[in-house]
Parts: sequence; structure tokens; C-alpha cells
Amino acid sequence: AHDTTDRFLDEASRFGANNYKPLPVVLERGDGVWVHDVEGRKYLDMLAAYSAVNQGHRHPRIIEAARSQMERLTLTSRAFHNDRMGPFLRRLCEVTGFEKALPMNTGAEAVETAIKMVRKWGYRVKGVPEGRAEIIVCSNNFHGRTTTIVGFSSEAQYRDGFGPFTPGFVEVPYGDADAFESALTDRTVGFLVEPIQGEGGVIVPPEGYLARTRALCAERDVAFMADEIQTGLGRTGRMFCCDWEDVRPDVLIVGKALGGGVYPVSAALADGELMDVFHPGDHGSTFGGNPLGAAVGEAALDVIVDERLVERSAELGAWFMDELRSIRSPHVKEVRGKGLMIGVEILASSGTARPFCEALQDRGILAKETHHQVIRFAPPLTIARSDLEWALGEIREVLR
Ligand code: PLP
Repeated sequence: AHDTTDRFLDEASRFGANNYKPLPVVLERGDGVWVHDVEGRKYLDMLAAYSAVNQGHRHPRIIEAARSQMERLTLTSRAFHNDRMGPFLRRLCEVTGFEKALPMNTGAEAVETAIKMVRKWGYRVKGVPEGRAEIIVCSNNFHGRTTTIVGFSSEAQYRDGFGPFTPGFVEVPYGDADAFESALTDRTVGFLVEPIQGEGGVIVPPEGYLARTRALCAERDVAFMADEIQTGLGRTGRMFCCDWEDVRPDVLIVGKALGGGVYPVSAALADGELMDVFHPGDHGSTFGGNPLGAAVGEAALDVIVDERLVERSAELGAWFMDELRSIRSPHVKEVRGKGLMIGVEILASSGTARPFCEALQDRGILAKETHHQVIRFAPPLTIARSDLEWALGEIREVLR
């Protein structure tokens, strides 16, 4: 029965680079929260493509927006205007409360955009001597895979063999506002932070951390840059995770669910003081702001707002996390998270999280371990309570 799966696995390993170690499941169809593999088995998708599918697989409204746009115009490049980018950026600014947006495609590109924006602001507006700007980053961060970004990763494997790296980044321990304050200098231009670290193992910082570092940034004329690529757009039970502490960043970085699981769409947002450092020719992307991505992005935002996915995430997430915490398991060290971004940390004495994910797969639940010890539960925000109830039953069996 596994012949078909094995054929696909062999092909992928023969012709593909070996830079991932996926669960051995080959998917061929997705509907809402469910995905189907080539053997005809059905699974509840509790990873949601690392939160890029918050709206569920192939949301009809997003697919329809993509389909009708595909029949009109898909790509112009930024050499010309198109009639979809403006409306999309207007909607994005309305939803986020920022004055301006710069559209890109992948998360890493939006992070790079934010870094360039803040550095240039540092030189041209703040008055930092050319070439001396520093951006403070956090230990255990994940912001993407470009050479600049992995250069300030604290994960040895992400850096190993890929140097030399871009200078100008200073690392401080995540969650420690005093350490952040001590690291500030006259040359600090920005603080790049995930409001909850996703790839780092669903690490929730102490309450007040975001508000305090945000205030310190304001005091010291430093741009607070929130990477909400994974936490944003409803995932944590607020539109943005920073909203939990009433923090408005200076630069907001979004991606993943902005493309509704259909098409890569990302953006860096800021007000004019920061965004206006960009002049024609300073920065760009062939695909950024293209009409197909813009149509998809606008529909993706509309679905989040109109279907009240933020409220769903808050309500279902709080309930689901309580239920997970009530499971009596000899294997669980901690259950943590916010909204529907939940990590279950497995005790080292019980091995890694991988076998638990494999056992869940056998029971029809797809979840992926992160940072060896953590099972991440982050289903599409459209999930029905009854589906979560079913999942809980299976998770209980696996954790006991
Ligand atoms: N930033 C955060 C917080 C992420 O979780 C990710 C992806 O997991 C990225 C950036 C990179 O996004 P992409 O893979 O689209 O480049």
C-alpha cells in the first residue's frame, strides 16, 4: 500500500536537494483543514504550512480571486503600474494601521526589506555614521534563510558553511528586556524581534517584554521591528501578536498567511518617516506587488476579517490549550502558546518530539516537531470545534 508513497519519496530524494526531512507523507489534495495523501488517506492539517494557510486550504474566496485575476493579468513587474497593487496595499494599511507598505514575496525578503529600511533611516535620519549601524536581534531567532539573515542566527547549523556574513547585528537573550537595554548604543538603529518565537519552539516571552522593549526603542530613537510573519494575521488570537501588549511597532513584517496559502505574498509596513527613505531604484523585486499576488493578498485579508478568524483563534485556542494542559501525560514538560499557536514540549527523558508526530500521523493528524522537543499545533484558523475535539482524543492517546 505504501508503493505509491515510496515512489514519490524516491523521486524527491533522487532529483531534489536533500535540505529537508519531511514526514513521509505525500499529499495530493487539500480542502479547508483536511489534506489527502496519494494512498487515499485523509489527515487533519495541524501545521497549516507554518501558518501560511490560516484561511484553510483552497479557500473558495481566495481561489476565486486568483482565478479571475489569472484570466486578466498576472505580472507586469514594477516597470509599469497595475490596477491591483494599490487597492491591496490600501487594504493592508487599513488592516494593520500603517501609512505605507512595501510588497515582496517571501518572508525572508520582507525581513531584508525591513533591515534595509531601518539601516538607511539610521544613516539619513537618525545620523548614525555611515557603515556603523547596529540592529539588535534575539537569541534563538528565526527570520529566514538568506545569507544576511542566517548570519545573525544563533542556530549553528543555519550558519555552518555559509559565511562570511553581514556585520552589524548584535544578539541579546530573548525575553530579557534588561539585556536589551544594556545592548543599546548610539549606533543602534533597530530591534528585530518575533513576538512569539515560532521556529525556535513556540517560545512565549515574559509578559511585558514587548511593551518594555518597545518603550525603550521609543526613548532611544530605535526602530522596533516586529517579525509577525508567523504570529500575525490572527494566528495568536489577536490580529497581530504585538496587540496582546498594545504595542504598535515602527516596522511590521508580514508574510505567510498574507498569501492565503495560494501564492507567496509578503510586505514590510511602516509610516512615512521610515518608508520614505526608499527612492526609485533603491530596492525592488520583479514579482513584488504583482497583480496576481495583490488580488490574492486582498482576498486573504478579507477572509481573515469577514470570517472573524482572529476571534475564532482566540476562543478556540484558549479552550484547546486548556484541554491539552489537562491531559495527564508522563511525557509532557509544558504546553504553551497563544491563540492557535501552541507548542507541546516533550520531556527529554521521553526522547524527541518526532516519534510523537509520527504516531499522530498514523492517527490522521499532521503536526511537525520544531526544535527537537516541541510538537507544534497550529491548524487553519477556520477549524471547527468538533474537528479539534476529535484531534484532542487522538492527541490524548498519543501522549499517554
Ligand atoms: N520570519 C519568521 C518569524 C518565520 O517564521 C519565517 C518562516 O518560517 C520567516 C521569517 C521566513 O519566511 P519565508 O520562509 O517565507 O522566507
